[in-house]
This record gives sequence, C-alpha cells and structure tokens, in this order.
Amino acid sequence: MADWCAPDHQPLMIAGGEGAYLIDAEGRRYLDGNASIWTNIHGHGHPTIVQAIQRQAAQLAHASSLGFGTAPAAELAARLCGLFPKDTLTKVFYSDDGSTAVECALRMALQYWQQSGSPERTQFVAFDQAYHGDTIGAASLGGIPLFHKRLTGFGLPTLHVRDFEALDKLTATQLSSVAGIVIEPLIQGAAGMRLWPAGMLKDLRAWCDRHDIFLILDEVMTGFGRTGTMFACHRDEVIPDFLALAKGLTGGTLPVAATLTTDRIFKAFLNPKHTFYYGHSYSGNPLGCAAALANLQVFEDEHVLELLPPKIQFLSEQLHQWQAASPCVGNIRQCGMIAGIDIVQPTGQPFDPAERIGAKICVAARSHGLLTRPVLDTLVLMPPLCITEQELESAVTALREATRSVTDSRC
Ligand SMILES: *Cc1c(COP(=O)(O)O)cnc(C)c1O
Repeated sequence: MADWCAPDHQPLMIAGGEGAYLIDAEGRRYLDGNASIWTNIHGHGHPTIVQAIQRQAAQLAHASSLGFGTAPAAELAARLCGLFPKDTLTKVFYSDDGSTAVECALRMALQYWQQSGSPERTQFVAFDQAYHGDTIGAASLGGIPLFHKRLTGFGLPTLHVRDFEALDKLTATQLSSVAGIVIEPLIQGAAGMRLWPAGMLKDLRAWCDRHDIFLILDEVMTGFGRTGTMFACHRDEVIPDFLALAKGLTGGTLPVAATLTTDRIFKAFLNPKHTFYYGHSYSGNPLGCAAALANLQVFEDEHVLELLPPKIQFLSEQLHQWQAASPCVGNIRQCGMIAGIDIVQPTGQPFDPAERIGAKICVAARSHGLLTRPVLDTLVLMPPLCITEQELESAVTALREATRSVTDSRC
C-alpha cells in the first residue's frame, strides 16, 4: 500500500482487453504476460465467451443452488466430468474461487472420514512452498513463509513435507491421522514455477492408495491447457479423489470454481444425517457456468490443445536464446505455456532481494509493451494460450530489453 500511495506513483488503470492484449486508460497496449494472474485462456473479449455471457445475462443471471438447479450448471458439471475417463470423477461441487474449491475438498475429506468410521483422520499433508489459496483452511496448507507465517498455529492441522521422499519418514501414527494430501501437480506456481520430478504424481497416487489417504489435486493454476494438456493430471493419467478447478475455468472472465470428486465420496453424503453444510450464495452461478461452457467450446472450435505444441516449443527456443546471450538469465523452468525465468547477477550469484530486481524488470517491461508480475527474482511468463508466436517473441524481447535497462546493460 505504501508503494501504491507514494506521491510519485502513477497507478496503471486497465480499461480494455483484446486477445492477448490489455489496454490502459491512455490507450496503450500491453501483452498480458501473466494472463491476468493466471486466469485468461483464449484472450480478452473472446466473442464466443462474451456472447454466452450476454445471452445468459438476458435469460437469468443468478438463482440460488439451494434446492434448485440451472441448465448451465448442470451442463457444465456433465462436461467437466466428461473430460475424465468414465466412472472416475463423476460429481461436481461449485464454489467461487480457487481457495474455496480447495477449502471444500478439505471439508469434504474431513467429513467423509468422520462419517465413515475414521474420525481420527483429521490432518492434511502439504508440500513446502505450496500455495493453495488465502482462506484460512486453504492457507493452512500453504508452505510459503512470506504469505503464510502469520497463520502458524491457526487453521487446519497440517504436516508439511519437502518432497515425495519425505513422505516415507512419516510415522505410522502420523499416517493414520491423515485425511488427505494436497499438491499442485507438475508445477508449483506461487513458489516461483517449481517443477516436480517426472512421474512423481503416479508415485503419489500409489502412495495414497497404499495408505488410504485422499489425493487432492489443486489444478487451479494448471487446469485448462496451461501445461499443454487439458489438466496436468492427464499427463500422468492420474485420477485424484478431489480436483480443484478455478482460475481458467471461465476462460478468465468470471469467478466460478468447481471441486470434482468420485462416487465413493458422494455416496458417503447420501445419508440425511451426513449433510454437507457448505455453500456460497453464488455457488453454481449460471452466468459463470455459461462462460465456462463457452470456454470449453472454444477449446474444441479452435483446436486449442492441438495447436499448443509448436507454441510451447517456440517459447522454449526464445527463452533459451536469451539465456545463451545473457549472463543474467539463470535457471529457466517451463511447463507448457508456463515459464519461470530466474534473474541473477552476471557472476551467477543471486541479486540482493532488497534490490527487488524482478519487480523492477516487470515495471520496466511495461514501456516495452508487456505486463507481468515476478515471484521475487523469478520472471513469470504465462500468457493466454491464444498468443501467437510473433507475440511470444515480443514478450520475451520486452523482458530482455527491460532486464538490460534495469541493470544498466550489465545483463
Ligand atoms: C491462485 C491459486 C489458488 C487460489 O485461487 P483464488 O481464486 O485466488 O482463490 C489456489 N491454488 C493455486 C495453485 C493457485 O494458483
């Protein structure tokens, strides 16, 4: 807030969007380099999604899901389940955002064990550097001290582990108290785009099966094509017990979230004494569900997933060319259309965090036509999937130029 309120700060007001571009109040155009905090999929103002929202708004903007249904919510649930093998993820619970999608998986997992003879399963396992949202339940799974340390001692009991290998160190007593394990599959976003080892998800699924612990996948960031497949779990053909979706679900237009789960979980709540007392006023919002249906429609109409591999390859080439030309590009991590680029000193040493070099580069990139946000000194490039190769080249050029100018051409 102090930065924002500083007398010389010029707030950037976004007034419009068009495809992969955002347009500010002065009419300047910027590539949306982080897809409006990882939400946008097919670009801004996509006509299919805009028309779906307009049509639905004229018909019915909202009706409560308490005791009623609406066609868009019902259809969307069927479409989402249809993206997974038959009889795997079969049920959908709606909420409003990524945090609540995770929160609701946690609450369902806890209640499942309470009413299924294992009330001692009261804690969760989560990974260091994880980010699962900001409501207190979801945040208690978080493993980023900067964001989460103020919650230490509050929220849900959680065992934090470093990696898959660390799970073997959990004692039998600990294991018997675990309700579920939560992970961002393939890549941890807020951690600075940290990649998990290949095949880890399959091992984790097997570990969960061995100990009868629920696997909760948080695909809030990785869902909807971001990693190159529709969902990250498709890569390893892993089916979780709960899948949390939000951000890209509506193509980045409206806040709707979904928690997918299995018949096993669903059936445990059919007893009238087992009501799941959880819901939000706007759960299953028809406008958002119509936008989400249109989002899926665009995937089909425009063969979005089929067209991704050359773009992913092109992005990789662009980033590695930059790395070859600059001593300040350290480690590059890429997973589909998600890239994290570590910026280091020409000596290879990290910059002093107090210099906030990542933030400075992203501010400088604005004058080269790119908006994005870093995670500390990791630059993030996660554009809408509709971005063209030419636009990708401009985005990487903007980061290169910005890095050069911020470091007085040392980089
Ligand atoms: C953004 C994010 C969330 C939280 O989603 P919100 O919609 O911001 O509440 C949860 N998990 C992951 C992996 C995310 O990237």
